[in-house]
Amino acid sequence: MQILFLGAPGAGKGTQCKRLSKHLDLAHLSSGDLLREAVKEGTPTGLKAKSYMDKGVLVPDEVLIAMFEEKLARPECAKGFILDGFPRNLAQAGSLDQLLEKLNKQLTVVINMQVDFNLLTERICGRRTCGNKECGSTYHIKFMPPKKDDICDVCGSALTKRSDDNEEVVRNRLKVYEKETEPLIEYYDARLILRTIDGQGDVDEIFSDILRTIKVLV
Ligand code: AMP
Repeated sequence: MQILFLGAPGAGKGTQCKRLSKHLDLAHLSSGDLLREAVKEGTPTGLKAKSYMDKGVLVPDEVLIAMFEEKLARPECAKGFILDGFPRNLAQAGSLDQLLEKLNKQLTVVINMQVDFNLLTERICGRRTCGNKECGSTYHIKFMPPKKDDICDVCGSALTKRSDDNEEVVRNRLKVYEKETEPLIEYYDARLILRTIDGQGDVDEIFSDILRTIKVLV
């Protein structure tokens, strides 16, 4: 199964994709996580990407396309995968079509997580992630706080806040989403593979909604 998640920054794609990838035992490819890892490791991709990410604008398409061409061909993606954050514009969507065609695969479903635009800034600025990569649990200081401030409930590691999760950068990221990424909703809807999910409310209920949507299709 090949699943693609769409949604604005802060819509909850990361949280749901992590859960779904465990549940369905599918590889989870998050473009943001892959880029942040590359920045941390100081790879050529990371060095190229950092200044764009700091400003909240899109990293050049060729960087993302090369990265996903390499990842999608890996054995762990053979039985299927979940794409989170790629593609992010129409040019990338066209390139993904070509990559999938080469691999003789197609998208099973595109899940569009919809959240009221006014809620996104508060959602993004309050989110925290477990710094232990193996764990990666996600929290929100208001909507899903950890039991102890800044400490992961699951593994006890310190929680981290993304450097681009601040109001000024978030404003840019939301503008970029509206202009570049939102047109993908129509792109996939025209292929009849788009399903829209309400991304507001209880995390468990949203997950159940996603599972119901996928089960109908398989
Ligand atoms: P995210 O974690 O998905 O919010 O992504 C964080 C940042 O990584 C974005 O603000 C962009 O600078 C960059 N990024 C992630 N995915 C893409 C993509 N598909 N195309 C271009 N830039 C991306």
